[in-house]
Amino acid sequence: MKLAIIPGDGIGREVMEAELTVLDALCLDEERILFQIGYGKWERTKSAITDEDIAGIKECNCVLFGAITTPPDPDYRSVLVRLRKELDLYANIRPFTPLKTVKLPCAKTFDFVIVRENTEGMYSGIEELHKDAAYTTRIITRNGCQRIAERACSLAKERKKQITIVHKANVLKSDTLFRDICIDVAKKNGILYRETLVDTMAYEMILHPEKFDVIVTTNLFGDILSDEAAAIAGGLGLCPSANIGDHHALFEPIHGSAPDIAGKGIANPIAAILSLKMMLEWSGKIKEARSIESAIDSVLASRIKTHDLGGTYTTMEVAKAIAELVLDKNKN
Ligand code: ATP
Repeated sequence: MKLAIIPGDGIGREVMEAELTVLDALCLDEERILFQIGYGKWERTKSAITDEDIAGIKECNCVLFGAITTPPDPDYRSVLVRLRKELDLYANIRPFTPLKTVKLPCAKTFDFVIVRENTEGMYSGIEELHKDAAYTTRIITRNGCQRIAERACSLAKERKKQITIVHKANVLKSDTLFRDICIDVAKKNGILYRETLVDTMAYEMILHPEKFDVIVTTNLFGDILSDEAAAIAGGLGLCPSANIGDHHALFEPIHGSAPDIAGKGIANPIAAILSLKMMLEWSGKIKEARSIESAIDSVLASRIKTHDLGGTYTTMEVAKAIAELVLDKNKN
């Protein structure tokens, strides 16, 4: 397997080093191709990613991604948004299954997945910035809705056979199309569905997270709801994601480059390591994926944790502790 490795910026580099330490412990025979792209490259060359980078990434089977800074500069185009479009990674799968050993801010137990449309909506990239007005075009297409709804339904078939469709169709005409297509696809697949307005969803997710299983929504709503979900699942440092298309896949923690803690060696590497676990599941390496999951549980149970979880260990100390257990497990 040929893996594109994109550490990116800020803590992206630190959690990628941690992730690769755990990958080393699995002793697989993958080929790794490093792509140094992102804001750092933009500062040096005024180009965060080149066409050549994209072509090289497309030649790989999948991508392990750290995090890339997106500055509030109108000349800078988000690298991740571009990659999602270029590789047509239309489904962003974000599982929120709290780890057994992590103390949650709410008393409820829950286990849900956000399936976020990843290539259109408010992140269409069609924007105009004038002196006194600015416009962003929100694109919702039949094809975009159909394929994300199919993805959500196929995930629901492996879980509780139900989806929650999240939209704002009472105000946004584009969301009536999203909602209606999701309903049609759910009916066709024999999946139970309910629909919820995004503002109600933001409220319900805090009060009754146990009510949800597969949640399907549009790009911006999925982005925002995921950070809320991360807060109730123990923090951004614990939450992984997969960006899946028909021909490519990219795995990344849902957090960003966290400039506030970058360079201190204190970032929690677990979200990135769980993203590696999602990559292994995607490529059929289930035994290896399970070994990572159980190593994380054991390490957290022995109180080897980073600062965000109340611990005092560094990013690499946590990663090495996980890697040691993974190595032991895969030797036996
Ligand atoms: P970006 O501009 O790249 O999106 P950001 O700081 O706006 O970065 P995040 O990186 O998602 O957004 O960080 C939000 C908050 O969560 C920050 O306070 C950050 O320190 C914290 N955080 C994010 N990831 C981690 C992590 N892996 N470990 C510990 N804290 C984290």
